[in-house]
Amino acid sequence: MSEIPTTMTASVLTGIGSIVLEERPVPVPAADEVLVRVLSVGVCGSDVHYYAHGRIGEYVVDQPLILGHELSGVVAAVGADVDPARVGERVAVEPQRPCRVCDFCKAGDYNLCPAMEFYATPPVDGAFCEYVVIQSDFAFAIPDSISDHSGALLEPLSVGIAGAQKGGIKVGDRVLIAGGGPIGIITAQVAKAFGAAEVILTDINPARRELALRYGVTRTVDPAQESTDGLDAHVFIDASGAIPAIQAGIRATRPGGTVVLVGSADEIPLSVPDVAMRELNVTGIFRYTGTWPIARQLVADGQVELDSLVTHVFGLEQVEEALTGDGADDSLKRIVLPGVRRVEDPVAAAGGARS
Ligand SMILES: [Zn+2]
Ligand SMILES: [Zn+2]
Repeated sequence: MSEIPTTMTASVLTGIGSIVLEERPVPVPAADEVLVRVLSVGVCGSDVHYYAHGRIGEYVVDQPLILGHELSGVVAAVGADVDPARVGERVAVEPQRPCRVCDFCKAGDYNLCPAMEFYATPPVDGAFCEYVVIQSDFAFAIPDSISDHSGALLEPLSVGIAGAQKGGIKVGDRVLIAGGGPIGIITAQVAKAFGAAEVILTDINPARRELALRYGVTRTVDPAQESTDGLDAHVFIDASGAIPAIQAGIRATRPGGTVVLVGSADEIPLSVPDVAMRELNVTGIFRYTGTWPIARQLVADGQVELDSLVTHVFGLEQVEEALTGDGADDSLKRIVLPGVRRVEDPVAAAGGARS
């Protein structure tokens, strides 16, 4: 077992648009926790939003906060009640801590736990730092066939799985997805794995439409050119957060079908006849429960491919760069390596991006 330092470096959001490196104590695992040395952390839209706006809805950053909630690592130490044989295990972390005793937790809906502590959601620190602690059953061992980056991206994959489960995707279904960002592309792969016969993806960005075709999407639609009305999708999943896309998706869903809102949008005007007279189920997801074993299996089996989504890799000193990016079309998933200070060429470090 390698020596565990007493302090570590963390990248801390200290205010809107302000990230600083700080020395922090290395957390000590409680009896039921493991200490994880963080290997790879995905940058999520929510991290970017906290950096740029200091809040998401009711969650306000009013004290320094470590961002990052999509992570893999290696178990560096264990609490008193955890099997010491886990030290050295590579793990993907489910970045949440439910209370385990409330009605929601006891019913299995722990994502709805009112006492949930979720990484990188104020005031709970996240993973843009060298070490984190998590309850041992939320650290999932990953096989060698799953890379550090893919291990981190089991988190957005979990979002895709939760959306597909909520939509009730079945063998033979026609699934419409709005938005060709990381979540849309991951959701398309999950829809295929769940048995969808057709996966149609809409995005106004031609580069993203083209890319989506490599990930299980059977057809793409440019919503500026072509209507999806009458598509008769069994399931529509919004991964865009764009109001016109949500409205079009509702119209494109067949009677009795299900609409799952995954992207974050504010209020939208809703056509009541489109929903009521066609008995649509309009629902959403808030994070996930019990998805890591499924996510791990889908990647290990090759049904979902995540490594090629990574377009940029940064070191811990470059978190600000990772959060702001260059807005280029070819940016899909950005990764931070907390164990590395600087990466000279973020695109080359990602494997030269896709070709
Ligand atoms: Zn995320
Ligand atoms: Zn609870």
